Amino acid sequence: MTQSWGYAAQKSKAPLEAFHFTRRDAGANDVVIEIQYCGVCHSDLHQVNDDWGVSIYPMVPGHEIVGKVVQAGGGVKKYKVGDTVGVGVFVDSCRACPHCKSGLEQYCQQGFTGTYNARDKNGDIVFGGYSNNIVVDEAYVLRVAPELNLAAVAPLLCAGITTYSPLRHWNAGPGKKVGIVGLGGLGHMGLKFAHAFGAHVVQFTTSLSKKDDALKLGADEVVLSTDADAMAAHAGTFDLLLDTVSAPHDVNAYLSLLKLNGTLVLVGLPEQPPVVQSFSLLANRRSIAGSMIGGMPETQEMLDFCAGKGITADIELIPMQQIQQAYDRLLKNDVKYRFVVDMATLPKE
Ligand code: NAP
Ligand code: ZN
Ligand code: ZN
Repeated sequence: MTQSWGYAAQKSKAPLEAFHFTRRDAGANDVVIEIQYCGVCHSDLHQVNDDWGVSIYPMVPGHEIVGKVVQAGGGVKKYKVGDTVGVGVFVDSCRACPHCKSGLEQYCQQGFTGTYNARDKNGDIVFGGYSNNIVVDEAYVLRVAPELNLAAVAPLLCAGITTYSPLRHWNAGPGKKVGIVGLGGLGHMGLKFAHAFGAHVVQFTTSLSKKDDALKLGADEVVLSTDADAMAAHAGTFDLLLDTVSAPHDVNAYLSLLKLNGTLVLVGLPEQPPVVQSFSLLANRRSIAGSMIGGMPETQEMLDFCAGKGITADIELIPMQQIQQAYDRLLKNDVKYRFVVDMATLPKE
């Protein structure tokens, strides 16, 4: 077995603590990755707290992983020892269904194997990136340009692809008015991408203190969503809205901003379901949709796009020991704009 150590929650809402565990030995198609950085996604916090009712403990969270290959199985073709690589939200899928075969593994008809809070095909619990290493089949590993700031690349593996994919799918680009709702980890990447794709981008936030940052990150306009007049000024004008909010909120207020045939895409996963008024949808023939991360080919495309444009996340690098403070700050919307754990700080004992 591969010896691993990291930080785990032993039960729902428990503070994370040092944890020793084992991973499978590297098989022929596996690489062993020494983890250098792991981003802190709000989904980590939802799952530690069992917000979605599907949590498995002990849980080592973390699915925004960047590190170096330290071992490669005999059958590994794409990677060699020393390569800089990334791992995102899933580490396996059925590989046989039409969705897997077309590179949409995130929608695998058998369900993908999550990077953590999941069981592998043998029924064993898999552990995530708040740890020293991880063993992953090369088919679920991504190539990362080593010259970028690797700590700031890590959030691309979830926050990046989760916003890149719907913005591409719904054609955010020149001539389109696109709104990003919520300026956290996902929101700030959505803002960077929508701006890079050439759309007119409006950032919605509940935090007045984030206004100047939003403009610097690429927003053409910033709207304080608690200001009813400012919201009303945009009624019926958006092609696309990307809602990244992590807590319950009124989606009807955003639906009313869509123009004819406009779409509100939900990527945020609050613990309560949204309440949708039919009238909000009927007017202007509006749609509400969802989107989940992205498949392997599109995630690689996104990483390559970011490497080409020099796009990374704006991060606050923290030692592993400060994870609880980071979680507390996420709940207060006090994130600028992604916490990333420096795995060099992980205590071995
Ligand atoms: P985050 O960094 O905590 O950002 C969430 C932002 O939402 C906050 O910074 C805040 O922005 C806004 N917000 C929070 N509470 C709010 C409220 N009550 N009303 C209005 N706005 C509020 O979280 P994240 O890591 O970006 O994740 C966002 C959500 O996406 C989470 O639910 C996460 O689980 C989910 N997620 C989904 C996928 C997917 O595949 N679809 C992937 C990853 C994450 P302002 O301060 O600007 O208002
Ligand atoms: Zn995530
Ligand atoms: Zn499949």
